[in-house]
Amino acid sequence: MAMRTDVAIIGGGIMGSALAYWLTRLAPRLAVAVVERDPGYRQASSALSAASIRQQFTTPLNIRISQASLEFLRGVGATLAVGDEPASISVHEAGYLCLADEEGAPRLRLAHGVQRAHGADVLLLEPAAMAARFPWLATAGLALASYGQSGEGWFDGYALLAAFSRKARAQGAQYLRGEVVAIERAGGRLVALGLADGTRLACGVAVNAAGPWARAVARLAGIELPVFARRRTVFVISTRARLEGLPLLVDPSGFWIRPEGAQFIGGLAPRADPDDLPLEPDYASFEEELWPALAARIPAFEEARLERAWAGYYEINVFDHNAIIGPHPSLPNLYFVNGFSGHGLQQAAAVGRGLAELIVEGRYRSLDLSPLGFERLLENRPLHEGNVIG
Ligand SMILES: Cc1cc2nc3c(=O)[nH]c(=O)nc-3n(C[C@H](O)[C@H](O)[C@H](O)COP(=O)(O)OP(=O)(O)OC[C@H]3O[C@@H](n4cnc5c(N)ncnc54)[C@H](O)[C@@H]3O)c2cc1C
Repeated sequence: MAMRTDVAIIGGGIMGSALAYWLTRLAPRLAVAVVERDPGYRQASSALSAASIRQQFTTPLNIRISQASLEFLRGVGATLAVGDEPASISVHEAGYLCLADEEGAPRLRLAHGVQRAHGADVLLLEPAAMAARFPWLATAGLALASYGQSGEGWFDGYALLAAFSRKARAQGAQYLRGEVVAIERAGGRLVALGLADGTRLACGVAVNAAGPWARAVARLAGIELPVFARRRTVFVISTRARLEGLPLLVDPSGFWIRPEGAQFIGGLAPRADPDDLPLEPDYASFEEELWPALAARIPAFEEARLERAWAGYYEINVFDHNAIIGPHPSLPNLYFVNGFSGHGLQQAAAVGRGLAELIVEGRYRSLDLSPLGFERLLENRPLHEGNVIG
């Protein structure tokens, strides 16, 4: 079968769907097709995410992206409404609390300076102030904390994905079930995608929005992308104790925890981090690492019960832990939106808008995302993000 579209998006997760929404909003006459091989999103990072949003980054552009995304999320009900049905994504602005020991305190202080300079509402707390504000916290071994008083928290990530895709369809985007297995080039340009069922999808522009599988898609075009699928487990935990005002807490030992309804979810950065592990939760790490560290930091969790767990992939950009956004210089009509390294869900709204502007108008208008372009990899100019959680 032969088909044609103006823009073909490979992958219909949060990046592909946010982009489809913005493209069809900015250019209603543009033909946009989203090719997704797993329409139930059983393995997509966007469906397996902790869906939290923060301003506590070390890269100023990441702070700006999250601020712009937050503005979008606050107004999402009306913006992504279809007909008289509003979108609902349950935004909880309960903050992040990043803890540091003596060794980590100077880095936290430095990052705090960058965040304040870019308008983030973050506060430094010494141990006595932490204990007064968060009485359930054991402050032994802590030297400093950084707390987001507003503009940080979490939301329903799957609902956001569904809302973007529903609105994109309502605005004319077409979602095709299929797997992209070939990229056809001619005269220095990409001309078509080949799907596993034999369909040839001719297109003016293609976008790699394949999340943890983006490296395999890039290879179809002969391009090396340093993005790797690294498994992360999310544990659902319950305790009878009440933990008033628990934000998303990040411990110096590497674990994070936050409320999720009447329960809690948490995870930790694995010691060994191989690529492409099967998406089975790493239950052993709960008993051996997470629970002891959690109970030491918040003694109420001594009574914790593990309810269930799931695993998803971080799509880690090992070059500098920041996203790679924009076209590849050697193939200017193949765009990338990959490598978000654990902070993609919160960035999708602003990044989708920026990339749509670049595709439709040839330049960024709302937010200049060019520092995240592919050129920095080719010129070996990393833009390191120092605050990667989990
Ligand atoms: C456990 C966990 C916790 C996280 N916590 C947070 C958080 O708190 N805050 C935050 O901002 N981010 C978080 N993230 C990261 C965030 O979820 C991701 O950055 C984001 O979801 C990536 O979206 P995506 O659309 O690029 O990828 P995905 O959602 O994985 O979508 C990619 C899609 O491409 C499809 N695809 C792949 N190859 C092909 C092909 N060849 N043909 C057709 N389709 C294809 C796949 O089926 C998939 O549906 C977390 C991630 C995980 C796993």
